[in-house]
Amino acid sequence: MHTATQSPIEAARDKVHAVCMYCHAARLNKTTWRVLPEGTMPSRQVSHGVCPNCYDQAIKQLIFEMKSLTA
Ligand SMILES: [Zn+2]
Repeated sequence: MHTATQSPIEAARDKVHAVCMYCHAARLNKTTWRVLPEGTMPSRQVSHGVCPNCYDQAIKQLIFEMKSLTA
């Protein structure tokens, strides 16, 4: 439900499914990740995941390390 008194931040906070363990971006749905301002992180327990940006970085780092191992 969306009410007029609820700010977009609060509405987003209510929809957080998971938080990126690297950059703390909040997952709002299957494809949307947003970095929420400090103090707006959900107080309830949410699962941790990896956002696409950090996933990309992690994969690139892994490939870089593998290349340096085989070089
Ligand atoms: Zn991230």
